[in-house]
Amino acid sequence: MANKLQVEAIKTGTVIDHIPAGQGMKILKRMELIKLKEKITVGFNLPSKNLGMKDLIKVANLLFTEEEANQLALFAPGATINVIENYIIKDKFEMSLPDVVQAAFDCPNSNCISHSEPVQSYFTVKQKNNDIQLKCKYCEKSFSKSIVEDL
Ligand SMILES: [Zn+2]
Repeated sequence: MANKLQVEAIKTGTVIDHIPAGQGMKILKRMELIKLKEKITVGFNLPSKNLGMKDLIKVANLLFTEEEANQLALFAPGATINVIENYIIKDKFEMSLPDVVQAAFDCPNSNCISHSEPVQSYFTVKQKNNDIQLKCKYCEKSFSKSIVEDL
């Protein structure tokens, strides 16, 4: 019952839980959740057994597509998505790093052909040492995840 304050029930929608603290704001911005005009409840720096602190985002009436969930996973791998229907958790899955990210952000290479062609950006994702690398399909350059995070 100690968690009750953190999670005000929503009838239908999506709860993104176990977001590493500090990433919640980025996700709000990145996914343009505010623009949906749906009720959004956020919690930042909530106590978490596993993470120490976590962020949490609840969006009413939103169900992520697989592609959106993939984009999300890039910024918060390990976060949990709870799909709520009629106040009940209908589906729950942990996000893992996607193989491919499409149309999530523009290629950081300003000379990349994807900027002048009517194409969606397309990156393959690779874990490399402690970093996550994104390789553009069009210019074949690789970028650290931290570069695209701040775009
Ligand atoms: Zn490129």
